[in-house]
Amino acid sequence: MVSVAITLGRSAPTSAPVSSCDSRLAAEPFALDAMPGLPAPAPEYGPGASVVDTAPAHTPVQQQIPERYRRMEADEVHARIRAAKDALGDAVVVLGHHYQRDEVIAHADVTGDSFLLARRSLERPEAKYVVFCGVHFMAETADLLTRPDQAVVLPNLAAGCSMADMADLDAVQDCWDQLEAAIGRPLDVPADGPGEDGLVEVVPVTYMNSSAAIKAFCGEHGGIVCTSSNATAVLEWAFARGRRVLFVPDQHLGRNTAKAMGVPAELMPLWDPRKPLGGNSAQALVDARVLLWRGWCSVHQRFTTAQIDAARAADPSVQVVVHPECPQDVVDAADQAGSTEFIIKAVAAAPAGSSLAIGTEINLVRRLADAHPDKTITCLDPVICPCSTMYRIHPGYLAWVLESLVEREAALAAGAPEAELGAVVNRVVVDDDVAVHARAALERMLAVVP
Ligand code: SF4
Repeated sequence: MVSVAITLGRSAPTSAPVSSCDSRLAAEPFALDAMPGLPAPAPEYGPGASVVDTAPAHTPVQQQIPERYRRMEADEVHARIRAAKDALGDAVVVLGHHYQRDEVIAHADVTGDSFLLARRSLERPEAKYVVFCGVHFMAETADLLTRPDQAVVLPNLAAGCSMADMADLDAVQDCWDQLEAAIGRPLDVPADGPGEDGLVEVVPVTYMNSSAAIKAFCGEHGGIVCTSSNATAVLEWAFARGRRVLFVPDQHLGRNTAKAMGVPAELMPLWDPRKPLGGNSAQALVDARVLLWRGWCSVHQRFTTAQIDAARAADPSVQVVVHPECPQDVVDAADQAGSTEFIIKAVAAAPAGSSLAIGTEINLVRRLADAHPDKTITCLDPVICPCSTMYRIHPGYLAWVLESLVEREAALAAGAPEAELGAVVNRVVVDDDVAVHARAALERMLAVVP
């Protein structure tokens, strides 16, 4: 039986999530959105919602999908998705993140990691609707990169990302203000006095797994976005421009990348947004090379060196490959570490008969095992918990949004004025004032690593 990691409660950002694997969620997929037993407003969990959601008050919440979708047998759901896709034709492209369950991936026109998918949506200019089976920040990124007349749809607006939620704009702005006070001058203005080196005090770098608002903050302050594939090149770019880097929201990707580049641990203080000066002395902030935000991925933080030891004890020939969102000791102990696409390539490149233990999300690991029956591929984590927020994209939601789009197209074809049809269901739109700066941070990244 599949177990699903759920995190309960609506506690303050960065508090330790209470995680459990609850088999009831596999039996009742829509239970994740009703969250029985949780205090209000949990049933209205909104976009970006997951462990410690702090989505802005104006963000739309996921409405209850019609009862008929909840009651449908799986075969009917899949038949309806296929029929709706056929009816929409080239007007729709369905994107499926690698961490989605098989029943969703089966309907994806393109699969990939978050940024690859967002870019692939650019390759389908004829698609009026981009249905993103991923999480909220991914849909935002796709909206930033697609044309204004293309609508990006997230099948369940409650599919957030616990890591992205750990860095909200107010907390990052507060960090910036405290840093400015500690350092004693504007952080993003190059010093140009005699003998000065022209560097700015702090370059903000955000992982792709962050809200559009955080990307915009970085864009506005001379910063940049990175992915797990290009974090080294992006940090090199940032070090060429600033004395320090503020890396949000994933401490592990920041630490693992900077450590590999030779930055000592004592120059990488952790910023805890719940504490004054992030829990550091002012001098530690002045001396810092990379300031790490206290955020993490609830999936990848689960991996441990004990699991690696157990895998090697069971099979001394096993190759351990992990994602850089894993803690530093896990990355250090692994044979290889890299992005989702890196892991896929590492498995493909391993010779037949190889044994690989993978430290990443279980749906991807399972598909890799299915795709490579000549190799033994296992997940490092014996509890096997998928990403609980990715799990919110149930095929029922996909059927619902696609059929809504079919109805919309039928009404347009019948001559209904678009203005009378209302908004596209579950459309994710980044406000223009945010988008302009978020795109600046993304474009800097693309200039560094095309
Ligand atoms: S796997 Fe981790 S980083 Fe990715 S969406 Fe899930 S919680 Fe967020």
